[in-house]
Amino acid sequence: MTQQIQAIRGMNDILPQHADLWAYFEQTIQDWLAAYGYQAIRMPIVEQTSLFKRAIGEVTDIVEKEMYTFIDALNGESLTLRPEGTASCVRAVLQHNLLYNAPQRLWYMGPMFRHERPQKGRYRQFHQVGVESLGYAGPDMDAEHILMTARLWRLLGLDGIVLQINTLGTGEDRVRYRKKLIHYLEQHLDVLDEDARRRMHTNPLRVLDSKNPAMQALIEAAPKLLADLDEASLKHFEEVQAMLRSAGVDYQINPRLVRGLDYYNFTVFEWVTTRLGAQGTVCAGGRYDGLIEQIGGKPAPACGFAMGVERLLALLEDDGFKAPARVPDAYLLHVGEAADRMAMPVAEKLRDRGLNVILHCGGGSFKSQMKKADASGARYALIIGDDEAAAGEVTLKPLRELAEQARMTVEQAAELLDNV
Ligand code: ATP
Ligand code: MG
Repeated sequence: MTQQIQAIRGMNDILPQHADLWAYFEQTIQDWLAAYGYQAIRMPIVEQTSLFKRAIGEVTDIVEKEMYTFIDALNGESLTLRPEGTASCVRAVLQHNLLYNAPQRLWYMGPMFRHERPQKGRYRQFHQVGVESLGYAGPDMDAEHILMTARLWRLLGLDGIVLQINTLGTGEDRVRYRKKLIHYLEQHLDVLDEDARRRMHTNPLRVLDSKNPAMQALIEAAPKLLADLDEASLKHFEEVQAMLRSAGVDYQINPRLVRGLDYYNFTVFEWVTTRLGAQGTVCAGGRYDGLIEQIGGKPAPACGFAMGVERLLALLEDDGFKAPARVPDAYLLHVGEAADRMAMPVAEKLRDRGLNVILHCGGGSFKSQMKKADASGARYALIIGDDEAAAGEVTLKPLRELAEQARMTVEQAAELLDNV
């Protein structure tokens, strides 16, 4: 026997038993985004590698070691499966000149790809909902993003998700801070791991993002960017906080929050839970005023965030949440030659009326068909036997309550099913 082919490690099948949960989540997301006036955008899954290198930054975990990059055999171009959505979204907005007259509030949802070590809550193909507001400079937009995520947790009934915020200041703030930080790190070379030593000069802020337990004390004691901000940075951060306070959104300031990507400035935030082990960040984002120019557009301010769908669904499941199931209205079973011929057009007629009907396929005895009707979850069985076929009628049998079955015309059955 040939060996069975398996899915790629870290890339999951989402099986029918989870379909209702995903559908519920996606519907909730769409309603929630509509409530804030965000418009959907859908980008390709593959982009030129240079887009991600330019947007995310060469010296980041994602670009250094997590991207699925390959050469297009037809033309030798280097292509990459998107590891995140912001770069593609901004690329699409610039390519189609969407910022020409108006700022944009956009969202997308879809698979992202990162070559990481798979573990609970960390996969190689995972899904994000991403939200990007392009062309907005003020702290009101940063606050809107945080407020809207807080509302989503309420809509989903999730609690215990804690908000952490920080500011990365302006470019000049970071140039000043960089010097201080490099100086500090140079004095502790013995504690730095290999990654940190390599990044210390190219991208020292990234060192603060390290999860290496042996370096946590060093990181904790590092000089803080927050202590060294200019007035504009402080004002923006203060205003975001004032809006959060007046909306009653609790937050913690985490001076170590620097985010894994290069493109952030000013506000950064993460929503974190302790319920998912080490993979506790369910949503992360911030302001990235430099990105649009960095990938070739006319400078424009922007901010956004992305959430990990698998992590949020794991929280819902952990809560014992049961998504509303899609229940078929009827399971149509049929025994006998005339009945078999009649069944398919009857099912179609019922669907014309907007009903959800499972047509039994594959033959079998009345008893075995009845079992399948029961297992299908349908509210009613519709039965066509020789007698019904001869009369051009059906028998309607309630499956979820104790009530008599009854013979009727197809029209009457449709009427009845439509009204229960
Ligand atoms: P982490 O520190 O956990 O690696 P990150 O900073 O790389 O996260 P982002 O790039 O900010 O993550 O992505 C936003 C969100 O997407 C994360 O907060 C998380 O919920 C989710 N996410 C990121 N990587 C993965 C993954 N490999 N598997 C599942 N979800 C992920
Ligand atoms: Mg990561």
